[in-house]
Amino acid sequence: RPAVARPPATRVMVVANQKGGVGKTTSTVNLAAALCQLGQRVLVIDLDPQGNASTALSVEHRRGVPSTYDLLVNGATLAEVITESPEVPGLSVVPATIDLAGAEIELVSVVARESRLYRAIQAHPAVGAAAEAGEERFDYVLVDCPPSLGLLTLNALVAGEEMMIPIQAEYYALEGLGQLLETVEMVRQHLNQRLSVSTILITMYDARTRLASGVADEVREHFGETVLRTSIPRSVRISEAPSYGQTVMTYDPGSPGALSYLEAAREMAVRGAR
Ligand code: ADP
Ligand code: MG
Repeated sequence: RPAVARPPATRVMVVANQKGGVGKTTSTVNLAAALCQLGQRVLVIDLDPQGNASTALSVEHRRGVPSTYDLLVNGATLAEVITESPEVPGLSVVPATIDLAGAEIELVSVVARESRLYRAIQAHPAVGAAAEAGEERFDYVLVDCPPSLGLLTLNALVAGEEMMIPIQAEYYALEGLGQLLETVEMVRQHLNQRLSVSTILITMYDARTRLASGVADEVREHFGETVLRTSIPRSVRISEAPSYGQTVMTYDPGSPGALSYLEAAREMAVRGAR
């Protein structure tokens, strides 16, 4: 029995911020695992050639494994590249291999190069409204983006209806956000009207420092209700988990990091798309 209601249709959420190291990948994999615990059916698409999300979910991503590269460049279907995470039962994953590093260039000559991901996702039978897609339907598709605003991230922004921006609670946190929001606006005007920044998640929050609370206040002032009430604390347990091929949700389920990701996931599910 699901712990929270399933959404009426698949929510495609893009986790993006062109800044590296802000917690995109960590948030993607832990929110995915948390949503699974809440009875949701979840697919993670790794769109970063580094394959960190694949690693964190214990999914093989050596060269040659069916991956997002095949999806974007070779015209593979989503069904052909989906695998299950051995780490999180029931969690579906499309891994990223290092081949993806060349995709930005290879895609330049491809027709409709910015909507490859959109088409692949929408063509999958388990994506859509409950009535069409049935019990097997994905409730959430979380796309983990690379730290850039190139063609890979563009594909994600065209594919998604919702964007989640993780913001690291430290100095310079807001730097670069203007450019990110301009990109979103450009995509909205020319490529994907449905796109909205639905969710902002404050990560690596250190309650002991005045700086962190100052940044968090500033983000909330600026973005209001878009910011989840739950912030993710800075925690060694969170950063250790991937080296064991685990999410913090199983590595240390009672830790503050795991509990906050569970709470953030619940908030996302309860507030729905906006
Ligand atoms: P991005 O995907 O945006 O580049 P990552 O999710 O890979 O960022 O996080 C960058 C680094 O910070 C990683 O080493 C990760 O383990 C660590 N990290 C992420 N979130 C936390 C946290 N809440 N507490 C401590 N370390 C974290
Ligand atoms: Mg990452």
